[in-house]
Amino acid sequence: MSGKGISGNLREIEERIARAAERAGRRAAEITLVGVSKTFPAEAIVEAFAAGVRHFGENRVQEWEGKRGAVAELAGCWHLIGHLQSNKAARAARLFDSVDSVDELGLAQRLDRARGEAAGGKKLRVLIEVRIAPEETKSGVEEGQLAALATGVRALAHLELAGLMCIPPFLEDAQRVRPFFRRLRELRDGLAARVGLALPVLSMGMSHDFEAAIEEGATEVRVGTALFGVRSAAGADA
Ligand SMILES: *Cc1c(COP(=O)(O)O)cnc(C)c1O
Repeated sequence: MSGKGISGNLREIEERIARAAERAGRRAAEITLVGVSKTFPAEAIVEAFAAGVRHFGENRVQEWEGKRGAVAELAGCWHLIGHLQSNKAARAARLFDSVDSVDELGLAQRLDRARGEAAGGKKLRVLIEVRIAPEETKSGVEEGQLAALATGVRALAHLELAGLMCIPPFLEDAQRVRPFFRRLRELRDGLAARVGLALPVLSMGMSHDFEAAIEEGATEVRVGTALFGVRSAAGADA
């Protein structure tokens, strides 16, 4: 990573987002940066917030439980982006503003129940994670099950289904990831028509491929390394 620090990294990412949006004839304001802070301490979140980041992604409930006290004062929007086991769903429903990795109806039902019991009454935003490359990735719902899952999630009173998310295979050449991003957009378009929901959110693109994702319609990009630096090996796949 360059020695520019988080705010310098952020300025660079924002420029790259702006250029990619321009190439696609989109406005940069349509794209939300989710800073992926997994494995980094709460101080890094504080620093990124001060630099202007408002959305943060964590991929483990337990790790977030350990950090959130230190950032409780920040008016951030906290996303769970990692695979969620159903025995942790109740905690996740209370600790996050959005769960971006819903891939099973039973999980959604648990989130719904816990959110309903939690004070406040604000719906939990969720995205459905689609297994866009079945041979290469494990998490996410199969394309063939997507419509049924979306219909089930949509019926849950305390969840707000906002769109889709995917984690395509890691390919060195970001251009080769592009067809996966395009596929997610097409699935969203088809699903939105079928279930009669807008489903405006497409969460796709990470540090090395977010520009291609933006050109293919991403509205949220999840950027860790390019913002915070390289993660230690222990947390690389946390
Ligand atoms: C770690 C992670 C990211 C960020 O990856 P970088 O390559 O560091 O930008 C994005 N999405 C998910 C689901 C992740 O687990």
